[in-house]
Amino acid sequence: KKEQLQVLATVDAVTKDGSVLQLASNISSVKELDLALKHGAKGVGLFRTEFLYMDRATFPGEQEQYEVYRLVAEKTAGQPVVIRTLDIGGDKQLDYFELPEEDNPFLGYRAIRISLDRKDLFKTQLTAILRASAAGNVKIMYPMISSVEELQQANEILREAMADLDERGLAYDANIQVGIMIEVPAAVMIADLLAEEADFFSIGTNDLVQYVLAVDRMNEQIAHMYHPYHPAVLRMLRATVDAAHTAGIDVSVCGEMAGDERSIPLWLELGIRHLSMSPQSLLRVKHRVLNTTASDAKEEARKCFALRTSSDIEERLQKFNDASG
Ligand code: PEP
Ligand code: MG
Repeated sequence: KKEQLQVLATVDAVTKDGSVLQLASNISSVKELDLALKHGAKGVGLFRTEFLYMDRATFPGEQEQYEVYRLVAEKTAGQPVVIRTLDIGGDKQLDYFELPEEDNPFLGYRAIRISLDRKDLFKTQLTAILRASAAGNVKIMYPMISSVEELQQANEILREAMADLDERGLAYDANIQVGIMIEVPAAVMIADLLAEEADFFSIGTNDLVQYVLAVDRMNEQIAHMYHPYHPAVLRMLRATVDAAHTAGIDVSVCGEMAGDERSIPLWLELGIRHLSMSPQSLLRVKHRVLNTTASDAKEEARKCFALRTSSDIEERLQKFNDASG
């Protein structure tokens, strides 16, 4: 089965009736990138940079980060590489960086909040990413944005990093695209405002589901309540896409939902054409896209949007998936 799927690596993900989906990969390392490229990824939709900071004794410096980002940009050969700035806190810790004990780490000192608090670390990372943007199609993405101010503050630091590079005479892409993760309900509700200042959105369903449903994604006791197909989640997806389309910016999905082939009808109906998933999911999802008729899938999705419970929606999507071979 695996070998059969491998022949799809060089095939485009197109439905039977001609709708094209761009399948990019989530990666956390160069090794994962190699697997993603072997599986035919159209670029990197989410580079989780945390690994660069983990399993070591100190923060990685600018040069060290630059070399990794440049390598990823070069290997991806002109296809987009979305580099997400540091997303620690919540469940992710660093041995050498004392994070405060918190009652609610997922509601606490995390991701962009740390970056804006530790401007030194943030600017070092942005500088390294900017330098790599001279070597390929690099984009920047901020995690866990919940307000316009955060986006503005982050961009202010980005402009400082650019000015420093100008002074040092180092090259970077002055028109680099800067996007945000949509993974906090507040960001969905102000997506129209954020879209005025972001070049693209990427929906992080892993966190979005947890925050919309108030279900800790790490807590096994309530894992049965973690429902990506909850009607509230579907409405959040729709609101985000509508805001992006109205503003004319690109929107993709990079949470685990993107790698669940049962969701394909939802993406087709919503008008999402960019997905990013684990390297292991790429060929399986592509195989499913090739066996899907978009017009049928959209009709199915419209029925799902009218359903009232997670289990009804999931069941319907499962049946559609099973029926399309
Ligand atoms: C997400 O939250 O959906 C996401 C892609 O980011 P992470 O899983 O790294 O939190
Ligand atoms: Mg997340």
